[in-house]
Amino acid sequence: MMADLGKLIRRELDQMQPYNAGLSLDEIRSKYDLDVIAKLASNENPNGPAPEVLRILRETSHDVYLYPDGSANLLRQKLARHLDFPEDQLIFGNGSEELISIICQSVLDPDDRVVTLYPSFSLHEEYAYMMGANVERVSVTSDLDIDLEALIEAAAHPAKMLIFANPMNPVGCWLNPDDLQAVIRAKHPDTLLVLDEAYYEYAIAADYCSGDKMLLENGGNWIILRTFSKAWGLAGLRVGFGMCSSADLRKTLDLTRTPFNLNTSAQMAASASLDATAYMKGNIEKTISERSRVAAALSKLGYKIAPSSGNFLFFDTRAPSTSLADALLKRGTVVKPWKQAGFETFIRVSIGSMEENDKFIADLAR
Ligand SMILES: *Cc1c(COP(=O)(O)O)cnc(C)c1O
Repeated sequence: MMADLGKLIRRELDQMQPYNAGLSLDEIRSKYDLDVIAKLASNENPNGPAPEVLRILRETSHDVYLYPDGSANLLRQKLARHLDFPEDQLIFGNGSEELISIICQSVLDPDDRVVTLYPSFSLHEEYAYMMGANVERVSVTSDLDIDLEALIEAAAHPAKMLIFANPMNPVGCWLNPDDLQAVIRAKHPDTLLVLDEAYYEYAIAADYCSGDKMLLENGGNWIILRTFSKAWGLAGLRVGFGMCSSADLRKTLDLTRTPFNLNTSAQMAASASLDATAYMKGNIEKTISERSRVAAALSKLGYKIAPSSGNFLFFDTRAPSTSLADALLKRGTVVKPWKQAGFETFIRVSIGSMEENDKFIADLAR
């Protein structure tokens, strides 16, 4: 007889959906019998890590029989210098995703109010639900921009947490410095602001800036999340970090962090990456120029595209996007059909290498 899970599992898990991580390259290859695949569904950086990072990974591979440094001290010191930010206010995660989970576990009680932007990065909502919190979504405007007035209004009311990405994923839009300042000023003083800057390095628009300086001036409790997964090309190693408003906040969050969450190779690769910023910036330039090219090609095909400061584009296919995504998948182009209510006709496509982008455009045109 099958054991009943009903009484065993926390009731918050009943309403949760499995994370939509998509198919792996191997799964796609074997399912569709394909050789060439353009993997444009996870906002990865097709250029990968710098050559010196790969060298460090090879040279330190024998150390993997040892437990990693639980406080990631080498990386912590280098990153603190790189950011000009206090060492003891940095927290590391097995990807910034884990930090979202750590934050939610540390601060959320059942029925707490959490505010986020919509369509959302799903984990901003899922980890909140897991803790029994209620999520309030501030939807983008019909022209795919952040609804500043609604965000300010929602932020002004007491909430345990205000969490959103700037630039925003999946839409790609962003708050300009004045608008970000207005949101930070409006935020209720009891609310923890989690500002997810996963695409910070790609956001070179003149009217974008990180929230770091404003938050330092403003006070309150806040965390800025960044990652080595996107611009730095280390998605497979899982390194994210949080810049916390105080060492006390960092210490509290550390209580729910597993002690060895950042593996040795990840620590080594991330520290070595910080010596290769020129390589990273070169990749950003390539991606941004490719982003304009892909956007122009999509416009030419008649699609309406949201402006993007990330390494991806979000566009309306004006038909259920899963069927289009399936058709593309059969040809070897993997994109992300959006599944959240109200956006089921949208696709998010990552900016890949020139060849991948060409393949995407050609497959889409067919
Ligand atoms: C990709 C992404 C992340 C996840 O980053 P990891 O460091 O790989 O966990 C976090 N937030 C947003 C908005 C993202 O798009």
